[in-house]
Amino acid sequence: MPEGHTIHRLAREHAAVLQGQPVALASPQGRFASGAALLTGRVLERVEPYGKHLFYVFEGDALLHVHLGLYGKFTTGTGQPPEPQGALRLRMTGGGHWFDLRGPIACEVHAPPDRDRLLTRLGPDPLRKDADPDRAWDRLSRSRAPVGQLLMDQTVLAGVGNVYRAEVLFRAGLSPFTPGTQVRRPAWEALWQDTRTLMRAGVRAGRIVTTVPADRDRRSGPVAREDAHYVYRRAGLACRRCGTEVRTQPMAARNLFWCPQDQA
Ligand SMILES: [Zn+2]
Repeated sequence: MPEGHTIHRLAREHAAVLQGQPVALASPQGRFASGAALLTGRVLERVEPYGKHLFYVFEGDALLHVHLGLYGKFTTGTGQPPEPQGALRLRMTGGGHWFDLRGPIACEVHAPPDRDRLLTRLGPDPLRKDADPDRAWDRLSRSRAPVGQLLMDQTVLAGVGNVYRAEVLFRAGLSPFTPGTQVRRPAWEALWQDTRTLMRAGVRAGRIVTTVPADRDRRSGPVAREDAHYVYRRAGLACRRCGTEVRTQPMAARNLFWCPQDQA
């Protein structure tokens, strides 16, 4: 599933091309036909990412809400768009570009109250300037659920997914099994800051890299895929810091990875 950094990058990319001009919307598949008909031709005022959600704000307070879910994907190109193929839910065209959306779990027109209701259910998004970490702390510090589960809970933090949860917990030296009630405030503050730093780097780079050069197999040059993470998808391999075997087990419906030594 795409994590918050991907959503924020999409918002930037789409706004850079489409913002401030009328956008043509169509649903070749038909499942979003009435929504596309309602929005097409309107000027796109801005694109607002929040966690794993995208909101396209059109003139007249009309909102398009998109959530990619596990399988949703945008493809894009310039010039004449290709003949629509497959389950093409939405095609947006403008500024000489086309953006095709397939397989989202949500692609719908929202009234502003719908969005507000949705946003009140979400925790702060570390990538947003207006994010209030205290809201996440309130929820996390009152829950006995393990912190590895709470970081994935979008009502605690919006935008964090499976890669970031594993990696920020490793970098913090925190066991993913620590109950929220036992996480100390300074540890939380450091965790929030580090999550923010890593996710911002993810937006810039378009990928998640959490390792520092000294901990990589290849210490210079571009970061190889195998060198990008400390524990994520490294089950059975030696921990980069201590050599202990990295472990995995499901937590919050996804495979969790951790070092039992560094995150005791
Ligand atoms: Zn280790």
